[in-house]
Amino acid sequence: MRYISTRNSSLTFTLSEAILQGLAPDGGLFIPEEMPRIDFHDFISIATYPLLCQKILEPFFANDLLASQLERLCQQAFNFSVPITRLDENTFMLELFHGPTLSFKDFGARFLAACLNAMTKKKLTIMVATSGDTGSAVAAAFYKVPNIDVIVLFPEHKISAKQQQQITCWDQNVRAFSVQGTFDDCQRLVKQAFADPWWQKHRQLCTANSINIGRLLPQICYYAYASLEFYQQQKVSINFIVPSGNLGNVTAAFWAKKMGFPIDKIIIATNANKVLPDYLASGIYQPRPSITTLANAMDVGNPSNFERLTNLFPEFTKFKEEVAAYAVSDEEITQTIKHLFELRNITICPHTATAYRVRPQLPNDPTMIVSTAHPCKFDNIIEPIIQHPVPMHPSLKEMMHRESHYTVIAPELNLLR
Ligand SMILES: *Cc1c(COP(=O)(O)O)cnc(C)c1O
Repeated sequence: MRYISTRNSSLTFTLSEAILQGLAPDGGLFIPEEMPRIDFHDFISIATYPLLCQKILEPFFANDLLASQLERLCQQAFNFSVPITRLDENTFMLELFHGPTLSFKDFGARFLAACLNAMTKKKLTIMVATSGDTGSAVAAAFYKVPNIDVIVLFPEHKISAKQQQQITCWDQNVRAFSVQGTFDDCQRLVKQAFADPWWQKHRQLCTANSINIGRLLPQICYYAYASLEFYQQQKVSINFIVPSGNLGNVTAAFWAKKMGFPIDKIIIATNANKVLPDYLASGIYQPRPSITTLANAMDVGNPSNFERLTNLFPEFTKFKEEVAAYAVSDEEITQTIKHLFELRNITICPHTATAYRVRPQLPNDPTMIVSTAHPCKFDNIIEPIIQHPVPMHPSLKEMMHRESHYTVIAPELNLLR
């Protein structure tokens, strides 16, 4: 399998090259030259989740240096559960928050860490800007990985106390910086470092956000898994509602569908950052500065994976046929969290609430709500709404007891250096 840029299909790259480079040389995003097509019946009786992932990812790794190690990479990365629960007759929840840092970011971060660890002999530096969940997943996944340093930049006072502790409770090869600015300042520093001669000379930099294809490919697997589980029981295809920000997670869902897994409709839920719903309504794509909402991991005004989605459906009429998107306000997020707790005694995070809120607006076909984070990461938001304590997960409790280390810096590259 070769990989090409979303902006130019004449240059091709191996998977290892695409993972190491992060972004294509022309500024586009890496995509597979051709999506592998499967017969999903061949995947039905696979015994464990890591073995299923291995079989799904095999064609993407064909001819790559890492191909022979794929089994071990999957065993290493996917060592936690992926439960599906039933909410009512035709509504299910796919729980993606059982990894070490309690969000779906653990799937991609852990798999990327396993790949880079298997691939590099040279010293690498992973630099990430985070608005919350990426930083902790990457820090946890790369902690003590030999030859890899991690630099996490987070905006001072703009993430929850729990998120900050999960980012700063490390030492050794993981350094955290509290940047006196916004998430955009953090992202700008990362971009500047990639383009800076000093950094290019002294550090081999690599990105670990969702533009990296090494993070995206493993996310195909849980959509495939959930659709197969459902198909085995009910013999029909399932819909997914995906709470979205940078559109990485939902791109993986479309890739799983394109491969041939039994998936029917894929619906995007956004918060007030509704660039995509507006695009579907008007046909005009207008990125804008992000707005702060209760679902902070989805506060994105210029989604970086939009190019991968338009690459799947280049014509607007086709895009509109295949992609549906609904925006959910903070007030609706609050109501949804409150109602679900009061009526069903179920607690969900603000991101998951955007997806749940969209459910009644759709036909009553079998539909799975993608639950992206554990509610206890957002107890500061949820507890005042439900007037009830949100129990802390043991792995978060353990991290809360560790010593926190970080450096406060002004948003200037020379200070980071
Ligand atoms: C990152 C994140 C999202 C958004 O995912 P994208 O791939 O950026 O669309 C949604 N929910 C949670 C909890 C997240 O951490």
